[in-house]
Amino acid sequence: MTGGISIEGLEVRYGKLEAVKQLDLSVRGGELVAIVGPNGAGKSTTVRCLAGLVTPASGHLFIDGINVNKLSPEERVRLNLAFVPEDRGIFRRLTVQENLKLGRVAGAKKSGSGLDLTAVTSLFPILGERQTQAAGLLSGGEQQQLAIARALLTKPSYLVIDEPSLGLGPQVITTVYEALRKVRDDYGLGILVVEQSLRRVQKYANRVLILREGMVRSEHAVDASIDFAELEKAYFGVE
Ligand code: ATP
Repeated sequence: MTGGISIEGLEVRYGKLEAVKQLDLSVRGGELVAIVGPNGAGKSTTVRCLAGLVTPASGHLFIDGINVNKLSPEERVRLNLAFVPEDRGIFRRLTVQENLKLGRVAGAKKSGSGLDLTAVTSLFPILGERQTQAAGLLSGGEQQQLAIARALLTKPSYLVIDEPSLGLGPQVITTVYEALRKVRDDYGLGILVVEQSLRRVQKYANRVLILREGMVRSEHAVDASIDFAELEKAYFGVE
């Protein structure tokens, strides 16, 4: 496989604990793939490996066909991968504008058009209104929008987000997912999201991978014929 991000045979250990076992996964441009599973399933570990924040015991990670196992997180950003961690990783004491500028500076070093400041503030209008406010004073939902906007300004081809809905209300979750749908459909981004809840992603994902105890238990293409009851059975491990 050349285009897209892909993970082959990923194994991660924390001491004696096998957090991820023989995991394969791929995301192409223009699709949203969700990794869904309960607490401790290995979801964050998987995406943190992709971003270069956790070192695998074995397996291979590729961005557009380039093996990135030995590359730093910054080098992976240069290869068009953007990562939004579970804690969102914004700079609380900097203003909204300054946080966004950090994304723009990283994006300016790269070719390609991607989303500019006007495009991200039209996706998340609240950021335009709060430009001069310290990021730490924003609500959780606004911080999540800021984190995604900053990631988009780095001009990624692939966006990886760890639990974007964590701690947020239903309305802002919809705002976030509608924005993700738009960047997938209008800008062709490949998006990988981690979620605990199947319901959050079933309206937006093109594919869902169910992860339990470090292993992909099943993979489902989400189309008109999908049976969500079957998906829920897979999630809960009902045979
Ligand atoms: P959650 O939905 O609760 O975030 P998760 O599916 O993202 O869970 P991970 O955070 O990847 O799961 O954790 C997988 C396993 O690895 C868990 O048993 C967790 O306790 C363990 N683990 C994660 N990070 C570390 C670490 N830095 N050191 C030791 N064990 C860890």
